[in-house]
Amino acid sequence: MKIKYLGTAAFEGVPSLFCTCRVCQKARKTGGHELRSRSQAIINEDLLLDFPPDTVWHSQRFGLDWTKISDCLITHDHSDHLYPEDALMAVEGYSHHHRPIHFYAAQSGYKRLMEFVPFSETAGAAISLVVPGRRFHAGEGDRYSVLPLRANHEESTSPVIYSIACEGKRMLYAHDTGVFYEDTWKGLKEEGRYDLVSMDCTGCLEKSGPDYHMCLRDIRRVLEKMREEKLTDEKTTVVLNHFSHNGGLTYEEMCREVEEEGMIVAYDGLEIVI
Ligand SMILES: [Zn+2]
Ligand SMILES: [Zn+2]
Ligand SMILES: [Zn+2]
Repeated sequence: MKIKYLGTAAFEGVPSLFCTCRVCQKARKTGGHELRSRSQAIINEDLLLDFPPDTVWHSQRFGLDWTKISDCLITHDHSDHLYPEDALMAVEGYSHHHRPIHFYAAQSGYKRLMEFVPFSETAGAAISLVVPGRRFHAGEGDRYSVLPLRANHEESTSPVIYSIACEGKRMLYAHDTGVFYEDTWKGLKEEGRYDLVSMDCTGCLEKSGPDYHMCLRDIRRVLEKMREEKLTDEKTTVVLNHFSHNGGLTYEEMCREVEEEGMIVAYDGLEIVI
């Protein structure tokens, strides 16, 4: 199972438009891994995670192969994760030959997508409603087993995190969530051990409160509990992702901070095989 991070920032991207803070200025000057676009990832060649306004840019930059992409899981409907206006490009008139793309979104994102895309059997695009706690299968031959669980994020956006298993490997994509709810822990425990966990690190070292997003302090607590519950072990890959300039640290500084713990700081283009 391969995961490639296409975009690794929170809403504003890094650098943020207009902003002249230290992190944004450093990103403009240094470029490379300090530049972050809005959150999106792809598993293997066919399963997209989220559909931000930077999807067009990711497709151009990383050469996404639209003969292979077949499914897209939406975490919630904040605009940095779901930009439904661009989903319209999947239908006739905006695109011609491609594999039909199947979106999966919980209530709010489902509603938003339905407003923009005339989904039908012939439209080149389909949609399914995601219900937290209810497992479904995605991809060719149902190769992905997906368990959506409730995220600790703004309720009106119907936020979920995804536990995704394929070919004997399992990963957790936990972005735009604060410290997990009890029912989410229950779902995770039923899943078992993870080969990779991708954790929300919007706040970098510290942020106020346990809700909506996490910081390194929250992540360490969550990881400790995951280890106690045998959801992770020393072989589990831990990736920190979804960064904001408001967290106050650059890519390079975050790497130094977590070097000894062996965590990986995501950047646009990072590829990991588990
Ligand atoms: Zn976000
Ligand atoms: Zn800034
Ligand atoms: Zn969000």
